[in-house]
Amino acid sequence: MNERPEKGHSNANTDLGQDRAHSARMYDYYLGGKTNYAVDREAAQAVIRVFPAIGTVARVNRAYMRRAARYLAQQGVRQFIDVGTGIPTSPNLHDVVQEVASDSRVVYVDNDPIVLVYADELLDGSPEGRTCYVQADATRPEEVLAAVAKENVLDLSRPVALSLHALLHFIPDAQGPGGIIERFMEPLAAGSYLSLSHCTGDFHPEAWQSIIDTYVQRGTSAQVRSRAEVSRFFDHLRLVDPGLTLAHLWRPEAGSGPAVLSDRQVSLYAGVARKD
Ligand code: SAH
Repeated sequence: MNERPEKGHSNANTDLGQDRAHSARMYDYYLGGKTNYAVDREAAQAVIRVFPAIGTVARVNRAYMRRAARYLAQQGVRQFIDVGTGIPTSPNLHDVVQEVASDSRVVYVDNDPIVLVYADELLDGSPEGRTCYVQADATRPEEVLAAVAKENVLDLSRPVALSLHALLHFIPDAQGPGGIIERFMEPLAAGSYLSLSHCTGDFHPEAWQSIIDTYVQRGTSAQVRSRAEVSRFFDHLRLVDPGLTLAHLWRPEAGSGPAVLSDRQVSLYAGVARKD
């Protein structure tokens, strides 16, 4: 079996952690990508066996990213920090926001070296805008923001949209995800936004417990959360309409996506909130 992802290049000195499954590469597999190894595919297939709709969750999540990013650009936001970016998947966030405003600037952040290997695909933005990639750990917000500041791509005295899409379910309660969000948002200017999406076991608890077990047994901490738990991540912020919803119901666009999806198939909450 081909043990190297097909696209791009790899630095022979980079340890990509091919000895165990990684969330970014499993997600790539759910989306039908080629940037994954046998160990990732084995884990992803274990998830698919208990929850065949996982590919739908991933696609709904990407569609949510596109709508939320477009909405934020339409609100006038021109600076974006996308934490837990994942392996590049077209369109990437900068493609979406630079289509609305070509001078939009985006800093991508992930802690998986596989994302760094393919990061050049995140850096092909418009000449007027700018994008950059930072390798950093979301559980250390001060370090992430300091690394972002050092790139001189964003003016952190002005509003920023922070996206934490499909990230927080990899940050268990023991790591204090609520406090992490507060530490990210606190230094950001008034008028900044938070956009997040998060898997839930609310509609199929047994399957999601089994998915969590699959990740944890392979060394990735993970936790699903209820609607009330995800709502608390927006404390101190003002949710914009329609509030926290299942991701496919957040400002759906006419003619986009499969017409009928069940709550259980989607199993992903999403919302955007403003720091006033
Ligand atoms: N945001 C993308 C990808 C989600 S997959 C999307 O919504 O489509 C989750 C990503 O979060 C993976 O790329 C994984 O490497 C990254 N991630 C997980 N824990 C992280 C952490 N502590 N710091 C930074 N990135 C993290």
